[in-house]
Amino acid sequence: MSCKVIKCSKMFDSENQQVLENVMIFVNDNIIEKVCPWTDETEGYEIIDLTDKFVTPGLIDCHVHLSSNGEANPSGGQKTLGDHAFFMMRMAQADLMAGFTTLRSVGDPGFNDVALRNAIDRGEIVGPRLLVSGPCLGTTGGHADSHYNPYIEESPLAASGNIADGPDAMLKAARYNVKHGVDVLKFMSTGGVMSKGTTVGAQQMTFEEMRAICEVAEMYGVITATHAHGTNGIKCAVKAGVTSVEHGMILDDECIEEMAKRGTFLVPTIIAAERIIVMGAEAGIPQFMVDKAKQVLENHKNGVTKARAAGVKLAFGTDSGTPYNFHGKQGYEFQLMQEFDIPVLEALTCATKNASELIRRQDTVGSITAGKFADIAAFDGDPREDITAMTRCEFVMKNGVVYKG
Ligand SMILES: [Zn+2]
Repeated sequence: MSCKVIKCSKMFDSENQQVLENVMIFVNDNIIEKVCPWTDETEGYEIIDLTDKFVTPGLIDCHVHLSSNGEANPSGGQKTLGDHAFFMMRMAQADLMAGFTTLRSVGDPGFNDVALRNAIDRGEIVGPRLLVSGPCLGTTGGHADSHYNPYIEESPLAASGNIADGPDAMLKAARYNVKHGVDVLKFMSTGGVMSKGTTVGAQQMTFEEMRAICEVAEMYGVITATHAHGTNGIKCAVKAGVTSVEHGMILDDECIEEMAKRGTFLVPTIIAAERIIVMGAEAGIPQFMVDKAKQVLENHKNGVTKARAAGVKLAFGTDSGTPYNFHGKQGYEFQLMQEFDIPVLEALTCATKNASELIRRQDTVGSITAGKFADIAAFDGDPREDITAMTRCEFVMKNGVVYKG
């Protein structure tokens, strides 16, 4: 049993979206025991002084891809599943060191992500808490179909997509992923920026196929996430009962209304499109990706603003792994959220409390509250004064163990 007490001058209280001053966090083994004003009664506790930092709950990134790391053209490389396994471990660790103690990984080849999650849970290797999807569910010629390359045919055990057509086949594909131990079923309801040849906004999966996936999720108690840019694809996914819409860059009023009514989360991943546009073709990113990213980012600020106003819950996600969107650097998304007029403390809530609700782990993570896992991060500077502080993580505790600081 190890007892620690963390002394804070500023601590983000995500439950009440406020900053508490001069408090102490008592940690007993891996659990937060209490949060109270500064006290001298700390006998038996190792004191960790974070009074010069901004303390937050361990952050949660709801959208990462662990098998890539900012390569200009991720579909250009050739890696075996074994290569991916070691690579993914390093990426997960980079995210942990940036203050992300929980990740939802939504689409990597094979089921390496399941093995990685299990090895971390068993304490065999260092890493954040993981929720994983295995290969994305997609349709023939769709966004998950090996980037539309007709010469690649692989089994879902090796490919980044598990491809099926028709509700019955999709039901089986979803069950196949569940059989391999996933926590989330990720499906591609529209085209994407990074898949050559697909129209970014076009719907690629029928309502019946999406409903089949959501039905499996409901039966097995897992969550769902849909990659969706275009309006029709978003609407069908929301009506089919999806837990979260990823990207959601072409929202209309009806989408927003349905999402608010049903409590569907929006994970805006602004950074993914922004990096592709800012770096551009000069940096080696295929021109079609740059064009498509511009097309989707245009309306995104407007859509996110309207969604917030309508009461749609936002959760933090970055799509880390996409071109020039590096693992461990995703704190930059907070800055982009500020440029979207999202107040700082609301953005922090997206990456803590809201995210924990999306992944249905609100009883154990997402806030610094007695009884929850001791997942705590600290940053160099107050993000209310300088949002770039969120890219300077200086302390990480996960499950009561200090990994940084
Ligand atoms: Zn993604």
